[in-house]
Amino acid sequence: MSTEFLFRDDAYLRASSARVLAVTERGIVLDRTIFYPLGGGQPGDVGALVRPNGERIAIVDTRKGETPDIVVHVPAPEAPRPEPDEALALELDWERRYSLMRLHTALHLLSCVVVAPVSGGNMAPDRARLDFDIDMSQLDAQRIEHETNSLIASGVGTETVWITDEELDAQPALVKTMSVQPPRGVGRVRLLRIPGIDLQPCGGTHVRNIAEIGAIRVLRIRNEGKRNKRVEIALAT
Ligand SMILES: [Zn+2]
Repeated sequence: MSTEFLFRDDAYLRASSARVLAVTERGIVLDRTIFYPLGGGQPGDVGALVRPNGERIAIVDTRKGETPDIVVHVPAPEAPRPEPDEALALELDWERRYSLMRLHTALHLLSCVVVAPVSGGNMAPDRARLDFDIDMSQLDAQRIEHETNSLIASGVGTETVWITDEELDAQPALVKTMSVQPPRGVGRVRLLRIPGIDLQPCGGTHVRNIAEIGAIRVLRIRNEGKRNKRVEIALAT
């Protein structure tokens, strides 16, 4: 049993169809999905699965299953459950996901503007943050905001690249985050390339062109620990 990750090849899919493989206590497993499961600091998607009779199953979260190639769609407690092998229409909460895609891509840029090891990170639909192992005196909100927005204005297209585990092991500098290591053991690792700006392993969903981010604001910079100087951003537009 495994789920085909449609969002991996096309993060812009808002709707699709799929077949139910299993309904477990944790949720609904489909043969393919446009719903991104929680991981790499990006929240799981929400939306709805629509049954052939029009009944809607609200999906309140999406998680990885027992194995990394399974996606579990978590239904609202009161939502009806589908039958195995049932064909469903998938509808993503696109507004929420697109905000996450813009913020997620902005974090890639932020990790280039602040030149320091990343010690943590997280995203919500309305804000995102990275923690850096750096001295507070090196973090200037205005400069970070200005330089990130200058990068965004360059309007560079993003690219997905796959490399083998061996190739990644040979280039450890590619991995910027100390807290989130790329998934191993499947033979290959997915990278996001922002030509001339960034290249790092990432399984999340990103915008096609960084101009889609619009602009960001630095909400605050806080000392969250010896190795965690937290820069929090939001979309400005
Ligand atoms: Zn990413």
